[in-house]
Amino acid sequence: MSIAVGIDLGTTNSAVARLDEHGRPVIIPNDLGEPITPSVVCFKNGEVIVGQEAKELQAAGEPFIAAFFKREMGVRDFVFHAEGRDHTATDLSALVLEKLKRDAERSVGQSIADAVITVPAYFHNPEREATIAAGKLAGFNVLQAINEPTAAAIAYGYKRATEDQTLLVYDLGGGTFDVTLLRISGDEIRILTSEGDHELGGKNWDDRIVEFAATRFRDEFGSDPFEDAVSLSDLLVRAEEAKKRLSSSNSARISIVHDGNQGRYELDRATFERIGHDLMERTISLTEKAMDDQRFAKDKIDGVLLVGGSTRMPMVRDFITRTFGRPPMTGVNVDEAVALGAAIVAAERAAGPSASAPRFALGGRRTIDVTNHSLGMIALNENRSAFVNSIILPKNAQIPCTQTRPYQHRTRRRGGNRLEIFMTQGESSAPAEVTYLGMYVVDDIPHQERGLTVIDVEYSYDISGTVAVKGRVHSDGAPLRITVEPLPPDVPARFLKAPEETVEIQHVTAYLAFDLSGSMSGEPIAEAQKAARSFLRNTDLTHCSIGIMAVADRTKTTLKASQNAREIERAIADLPNVNIGYGNDADPFDEARSRLAGLDGPRFVIVLADGVWSYQDKAIKRARLCHEEGIEVIAIGFGGADEKFLRKIASSDEASFFTSMNGLVETFTNIAQVLTETAGGSALSQTGDPGKRSFLSFMRRK
Ligand code: AMP
Repeated sequence: MSIAVGIDLGTTNSAVARLDEHGRPVIIPNDLGEPITPSVVCFKNGEVIVGQEAKELQAAGEPFIAAFFKREMGVRDFVFHAEGRDHTATDLSALVLEKLKRDAERSVGQSIADAVITVPAYFHNPEREATIAAGKLAGFNVLQAINEPTAAAIAYGYKRATEDQTLLVYDLGGGTFDVTLLRISGDEIRILTSEGDHELGGKNWDDRIVEFAATRFRDEFGSDPFEDAVSLSDLLVRAEEAKKRLSSSNSARISIVHDGNQGRYELDRATFERIGHDLMERTISLTEKAMDDQRFAKDKIDGVLLVGGSTRMPMVRDFITRTFGRPPMTGVNVDEAVALGAAIVAAERAAGPSASAPRFALGGRRTIDVTNHSLGMIALNENRSAFVNSIILPKNAQIPCTQTRPYQHRTRRRGGNRLEIFMTQGESSAPAEVTYLGMYVVDDIPHQERGLTVIDVEYSYDISGTVAVKGRVHSDGAPLRITVEPLPPDVPARFLKAPEETVEIQHVTAYLAFDLSGSMSGEPIAEAQKAARSFLRNTDLTHCSIGIMAVADRTKTTLKASQNAREIERAIADLPNVNIGYGNDADPFDEARSRLAGLDGPRFVIVLADGVWSYQDKAIKRARLCHEEGIEVIAIGFGGADEKFLRKIASSDEASFFTSMNGLVETFTNIAQVLTETAGGSALSQTGDPGKRSFLSFMRRK
């Protein structure tokens, strides 16, 4: 019988674990009887040596040593040359995994096929895919890639009866840093958010010590140990040793042998902390970012779990104690927790959903993990003067998840209609600041009436946090073939310049203006929020921007028109907290005119009211100024709203709707769909039938 294992594939060290016969997670030692194996590969005379022996050969100055390649996972142009062969980071990781598999099989005396492999929470899609590929290359059946902090939390929460707790996992390994906020309650472990940097880890502290000692050596002897690979790799090993010593002693000595000279330098802990201060600061600012993201005050954190070898540095403990007013939690082995948690998940997955007690392994708790990066695509901005990253699936969505969004595409009758979507991960709207996943190409898009085909694009994250994209024709559901092609070499440079003239779809800008007077509080505002979310889901954000306004004693734009679903969702969530009084004095029209001035595509104000406004005549006059300037006003009323008044502020009778509170979602959804299917009515205007048959007549046909 084969068993399932959990593998912590670390930057510096890796570990394997399984559940023992009592159902307890245990580490499987390697062939040296050690719980962890260095993630180091040495190529020597046609032989491949992995682990401790390779690490020792590295210290001895052996030339073909690969280490820290986890930082290069998914990087297309990284290769390690050794003895006439090129190895990608995936190949190197596969060699480590093969060794782990071999050792573990020997240790337990059974074959091992199924594995759950851990990845830093902050890994993007290419790194996750590369990790899964490495597992397959090594002969594993990869059940799942799971986030390291999630695995650590599972190990901590396993069979431990705790009160509801909000924990922070601070994971500082050899090459990566992750900070994760999560909540453990009676029956679940819910990940709230993660931040991280996969270029930050113990190795950076080692490099600081190397720099410190090399500078002294240069001053003393006038020659540079960096010039010689053997001296440098020796120094790297000694620097790491000194760093570890400084975790238990107040000072450590580093010696350098180079060019016939030997230098010895004393480094005390205070100096070490000073030269690594900015690195520590970076972990602090990422920790604060994670808490800000969830609007979490420090005093709401019940405990901090430390994971990763570098958390043994006293400065980490000091920082946690200072920041949170209490020392970090104990009871978790910083080197082993991740592999142990992965083993628990592996056992559960291997048992499958049909197992009699599907959640047996997790001690009765289910794990809810989230996406760590927003998924987006490159689009044109609202006046088509620049490219933006339009976020479609925001960060922290529960995984697995799927979201379908419309995409409008102009087609030619002759065919050859092809769409290139540049998918991204990242939080920024700036194309220079995101990670590109690839060019997703949709071929053979059928030509439709008016040359506008709406495609429903389905974006999903699976349980491993990897991305998949599918497409269908909106009108008949016919599937479309999507292939992922390598990025052209001028990406992202081409998105940093002004777009060239193209026959494009017009850009729609729509402000949703919510009446927030007293009568909206409670259920009505919750329904309005639901309606706004549905509007967002049914809008093609690559060709449409959405802004949010609140109207009560005065009017406030809480979000300027945006193509970023994350920002829009946040503004919708914040609606109940907008502080503009509870009256009915204001209207949104002057504010909308100034926000929409100068934009050339179709412009809309979509007003939602549930009561009678105090200054109706003034509002009607101002709404008419919108109409005159070509801004369409759509008025939606429910509850105590005044139907006649709604008709007066709306651009046409067809643009005013009176519905019930429960009908809001449907009304907003329909409006969004019509905006999408008609590209904001622009297609109609192009057929020479504007005005009289406003795009909203389509609404009636729906
Ligand atoms: P990990 O990737 O979690 O195995 O962490 C490995 C990192 O932890 C390496 O950078 C090690 O140098 C570092 N590390 C291990 N033990 C200690 C220690 N006692 N003090 C400081 N850093 C340590």
